Amino acid sequence: MSKLRRRIDLPTQILFGLILGTAAGMLANRFGWGLWVLRYVKPFGTAFVRLISLVVVPLVLASLVIGTASLGDPRKLGRVGAKTIVYYLVTTAFSVALGLALANWIEPGAGLPESVKTQLLASYGGELGGTLTRAAERPSLAETLLEIIPTNPIQSLAQGAMLQIIFFAILMGVAISLAPKTRTGTLLAFFEGLNDVMIQIVHLVIRLAPFGVFALITSVVANFGFRVLVSLLKYSLVTIVGLALLNFLYPPLVRILAGMRPSQFMRGIRPAQLIAFSTSSSSATLPVTIQCTVENLGVPTDIASFVLPLGATINMNGTALYQGVSALFIAQVYGMNLTLGDQLTIVLTATLAAIGTAGAPGVGMLMLVIVLRQVGIPLEGIALILGVERFLDMFRTVINITGDASAAVIVAASEGELRPVPSTDASSTARREGDEQE
Ligand code: ASP
Repeated sequence: MSKLRRRIDLPTQILFGLILGTAAGMLANRFGWGLWVLRYVKPFGTAFVRLISLVVVPLVLASLVIGTASLGDPRKLGRVGAKTIVYYLVTTAFSVALGLALANWIEPGAGLPESVKTQLLASYGGELGGTLTRAAERPSLAETLLEIIPTNPIQSLAQGAMLQIIFFAILMGVAISLAPKTRTGTLLAFFEGLNDVMIQIVHLVIRLAPFGVFALITSVVANFGFRVLVSLLKYSLVTIVGLALLNFLYPPLVRILAGMRPSQFMRGIRPAQLIAFSTSSSSATLPVTIQCTVENLGVPTDIASFVLPLGATINMNGTALYQGVSALFIAQVYGMNLTLGDQLTIVLTATLAAIGTAGAPGVGMLMLVIVLRQVGIPLEGIALILGVERFLDMFRTVINITGDASAAVIVAASEGELRPVPSTDASSTARREGDEQE
């Protein structure tokens, strides 16, 4: 068995985990074993998610400190930062617009039968209370911006407040590069060591990915209401087709702006995509996204460690598209006619809402409340899409992390720092790990 595992590369093993998990989940769904799966299978998936998540805070801190310190020149930091943010904003706004265009064209909400609407509102309306309360608790824009500056960075680290950690790490990196080398060498070496050790943990944990992915997918599919999927088929399909279009737009973009072969990009990022699909969390996937972009796509560590943690926190192209489609879908079900002005407002607010979405499961739906409220679409309409939320979250998270990786590649190329990768095969990491074992 272990010999067989060594012969098959890691991305393929993860894919097997995904396929077998889907099949097992369908069986469990069919025979009503959902609870059993939740009790005995899901914990293995949860253990895997916790294992990769545990490296996120130390990895982001260490990699960003050494990344910023080694960018050295503060002007370069400004340039890389500006390019990254512009790319994130433009692709996010484009994603919302694409979602709106598709939903305008196909009108997924127009033909939804009244009976289905009533039934969905009745079944999921109850769950909505919590969502709306949580969304209402959101602070204002000024508060959100101020929140980025930590008053106690140790507390930020303990709470995993990602934007505060990013802010602190960048400041520390800049300060290290300005302070005399003789005084900061040990500190920098400490962070370099910490970074290497965290990456080593990712290498170890990723070997469990096929099992973790199996367990996660089995429990999602086992407890999924397929009947809801049927009644929301058109809406789900429009969202998934939109996300697929985005997925196929990145490779040519990377080709044009970074000169990278589309197949290399897609193969290189695949392991992270599979993890994103099964965890529905950009943050939990972050260590793998960093590993893939550095080892398979040739992005230098300093750029990857700046662009990717920022992306996992603020760049959500998939979520943005989903919010565009969902807002329009709900408006259509309620028979509302949105003007061009309303739709432009959606582009603006969904871009901001996607930026505010944390890289965790289900947050994109929570932030949809902001978009709906802005254009006066009934908030209870969210109950209509609650049943397929987890399912769509898996797809949009894949796009979220692919967008981040494309940014890392493009920014690295624009700085003339994209390294050629010896093996263009994404599984090089996996194979190297297999070789080490032998
Ligand atoms: N689950 C998504 C992510 O982690 C966020 C969302 O859209 O809910 O990227």
